[in-house]
Amino acid sequence: MVIELFLNTDGNTVNEFCNSLQNPNRIVKELIIDKRKFLIISGDKENIDVEKIKSLPFISFVSDKEISAYFCSRSFKEEPSIVNVNGVNIGHGSFRVIAGPCAVENKEDLFETAKVLKELGADIFRAGAYKPRTTPYNFQGMGEEGLKLLAEVRKRYDIPVVSEILDPFDIPMAEKYLDMIQVGTRNMTNQALLKHLGKCSKPILLKRGYASTIEDLIKAAEFIAVNGNPNVILCERGIQTFEKQTRNTLDISAIPILHSLSHLPVVVDPSHAAGRKDIIPTLVKCAIVAGADAIMVEAYNKPDTMIRPGDKNQTLTIDEFKKLMETIKKILPFKNK
Ligand code: PEP
Ligand code: MN
Repeated sequence: MVIELFLNTDGNTVNEFCNSLQNPNRIVKELIIDKRKFLIISGDKENIDVEKIKSLPFISFVSDKEISAYFCSRSFKEEPSIVNVNGVNIGHGSFRVIAGPCAVENKEDLFETAKVLKELGADIFRAGAYKPRTTPYNFQGMGEEGLKLLAEVRKRYDIPVVSEILDPFDIPMAEKYLDMIQVGTRNMTNQALLKHLGKCSKPILLKRGYASTIEDLIKAAEFIAVNGNPNVILCERGIQTFEKQTRNTLDISAIPILHSLSHLPVVVDPSHAAGRKDIIPTLVKCAIVAGADAIMVEAYNKPDTMIRPGDKNQTLTIDEFKKLMETIKKILPFKNK
């Protein structure tokens, strides 16, 4: 149960109220979000006299529904949220492009790619320094060296940078080098990581688990928000289905549904959804019309020589990225916002 209190409530009144709650109900958390103060009470609903609580003068709102994702829901905040990624706003009226290679592989190509993508209109640069792989024998990423190179990209080309981390232990380091921290599809259900990211000072790009529902994605975002970090961006990146023509199936329905259930911005990643680049421009057009606030695509100056050869199937060349940007510019006036 979530209770919203008037801010000017005096501490004693609240304490008395808290003490009056019977066991096994307990205050799990006191939270201040947007200058609004909340108490989160966990326990048996039968033991809580909701009507009585509602009638108390210092209570302004009681959410007595089964809550699973209150702070990320539209009931908490009706207007869409805007997340500021080091000066680049995502959500509510803007359309942003996040682009870059799958992984940081070497300084020269990283810098060259960032320079050109920024010139072509990319708003945020992406590249993985910690790569979650299905086998330990594949390239796992450059680690901290890769993050340092991304911090240099940010400085040199004046573009915010985003990258994935896998381990809560790496959060302080990522905060130092990045403007936004990505949670990958394999870690959407890693609640230990999500809770720690709630204490983090940077916005979080939370990718949907490949076998997770839309609601699960919002609940995962709630783990971050309720632990203190409201700056979460949701990312649809395809889910597993029986279809074999694409690596995953891009769930276009997720875009309007996420927008109707949650106030958080929605990013669409057609590269990891499709796993093939021939249909990326079409998927991007669909995403824009469906209301996406941003897209994230893989693009690199040398897709043919990437460490993992399979990545080239989904990685746009600079020329292809240029064409994609032209397509986006053509259809943006028709974007449904
Ligand atoms: C990525 O963005 O590089 C990535 C690994 O994505 P996902 O977690 O969606 O597979
Ligand atoms: Mn990738």
